[in-house]
Amino acid sequence: MSVHQETYLKIKTTLDAAKVDLVAVSKTKPNEDLQALYDLGQRAFGENYVQELVDKEATLPKNIQWHFIGHLQSNKVKYIAPFVHLIHGVDGEKLLQEINKQANKNNRVISCLLQVHIASEETKFGFDTTSLMELIHSGRLNNYPNVLVKGLMGMASFTEDQSVLKKEFEGLASSFNQVKTKLNNIHFDTLSMGMSSDYALAIQEGSTMVRIGSLLFGARN
Ligand SMILES: *Cc1c(COP(=O)(O)O)cnc(C)c1O
Repeated sequence: MSVHQETYLKIKTTLDAAKVDLVAVSKTKPNEDLQALYDLGQRAFGENYVQELVDKEATLPKNIQWHFIGHLQSNKVKYIAPFVHLIHGVDGEKLLQEINKQANKNNRVISCLLQVHIASEETKFGFDTTSLMELIHSGRLNNYPNVLVKGLMGMASFTEDQSVLKKEFEGLASSFNQVKTKLNNIHFDTLSMGMSSDYALAIQEGSTMVRIGSLLFGARN
């Protein structure tokens, strides 16, 4: 078994003290690794691939909270809509529309985070700050009654330069606070930022939810 139990317990203690939620990112990892963390008390798991998530949900304990953290294609929303706990990567209105439709079919309200593009790399998905603010100010979120927008999510650049990371996290936290003020909604309370390599800095900059994989499960192939 490759789960780092000691590290998990240490990180969990630190995050609990800071009131930050932990999503254990388990993509590509076998069910027994997830079960091992579950047995230590972990309930929130994050997955990137729809088929893998659907397979794991079918076999692992029913009280797991499944977070979808990958890039979600509209035509696949229907497979996770019955059970997903939080969709982190909502990066456009077409996707919002489809999540709303599938949530309605399942008689649910699905919680989502709007993904904001904060990294310098072209490859990372998300709203830019201008289109995010345009959406928020337009009132169009009201068109999606079966979607609850709970906050923002972002991925920093792939760099070890702390000053670059800090700047990107600060920018996202600033957008988060602006949207929070504008929406004035108590449910808008989640800022998902920080991964294995940068979660401490993300927390300093105001993260309320970190997504940690390799520190807990070991490196992915
Ligand atoms: C894989 C992934 C993570 C976890 O990355 P680690 O570096 O293994 O902690 C976090 N967030 C997203 C969106 C991911 O795809």
